[in-house]
Amino acid sequence: MAIYNFSAGPAVLPHEVLLQAKEELLDWHGNGMSVMEMSHRGKEFMGIAAQAEQDLRDLLAIPANYKVLFLQGGAHLQFAMIPLNLLRGKASADYVNTGEWSKKAIGEAKKFCDVNVVANNADRNFSYVPAFNTWQLDPNAAYLHYTSNETIGGVEFNWVPDTGVVPLVADMSSHILSRPMDVSKYGLIYAGAQKNIGPAGLCIVIVREDLVGHAYPGIPTMLDYKTHADNDSMYNTPPTYGIYMAGLVFQWLKRNGGLAAMEKVNMTKAKLLYDAIDTSSGFYHCPVTVSDRSRMNVPFTLKDNVLDSEFLKQADANGLLQLKGHRSVGGMRASIYNAMPLAGVQALVSFMNDFALKKG
Ligand SMILES: *Cc1c(COP(=O)(O)O)cnc(C)c1O
Repeated sequence: MAIYNFSAGPAVLPHEVLLQAKEELLDWHGNGMSVMEMSHRGKEFMGIAAQAEQDLRDLLAIPANYKVLFLQGGAHLQFAMIPLNLLRGKASADYVNTGEWSKKAIGEAKKFCDVNVVANNADRNFSYVPAFNTWQLDPNAAYLHYTSNETIGGVEFNWVPDTGVVPLVADMSSHILSRPMDVSKYGLIYAGAQKNIGPAGLCIVIVREDLVGHAYPGIPTMLDYKTHADNDSMYNTPPTYGIYMAGLVFQWLKRNGGLAAMEKVNMTKAKLLYDAIDTSSGFYHCPVTVSDRSRMNVPFTLKDNVLDSEFLKQADANGLLQLKGHRSVGGMRASIYNAMPLAGVQALVSFMNDFALKKG
């Protein structure tokens, strides 16, 4: 029986990539060493890291005036590093609150500056993207931060806010590389790797050069983007194996047609699943406004939540794993990242249809 892992993160990786990692585990390219055993300053690993950066630059068409940083500390550390580096003497920053991850970013930023929440969707339980013409933007804000895909609520921006000269900052942890993105519209993009890139332990930051070098005085060396930018992310020992694995995923993406091709498959997968929910005569329900539904994280409830545990048990028995919703929202959540094959979504939909027929 095929096994499909719908976990929100750490999440499924491309099978081909895992096979390649297995092949290379003990002896990378005839070097007699595992990547895990290599010095990060040796020519082998320096080559792996440089290739990974170049492949990411190719995939996202990252302009030359942006730095790519391979960091640790997850997206959570970025919640602090962003104000510490981007305030540049200003007293406040704009934040959009669209759900759980926005709230976390806001909570951390409040330790360092005044946070102006320009828009939020709490009135309808974080189930939609607030229209841009309602945002109360501050033209003097140090930057504007938003969460372009809310992993828990399943709310995704399918448009990019235009903040003019105010640098735009996005937490793209759960949908980076799922579609082409125009990096030049952003001051800074960050993403924890464990959703749509690779194993946990690596966080990728893409930052415009002019925003580097203005960190709050006296902060720890490791929290200053300049430290990492000036040292090609090798100021200290980087998460070497995570960078290697991310690099294999980037090459897998390139072999499979890049982000435009990935977007097509992701649209097909998402449509299949949302259609199954919407045509279930109310047996399944997705609370998110149709135009703002995430292609990556699909939350849904059953019409009667006493069926939840049976749904999960039977799904498990059918090889459909990790469908339990986040503890804060309940119900189910299917994360269908790049590495989830179409066949996995087809298997889920067919199981859901059967289950609804039996229990409906
Ligand atoms: C998972 C996630 C985070 C937290 O990532 P960590 O690497 O655990 O810090 C932050 N933001 C979003 C959108 C996420 O999906």
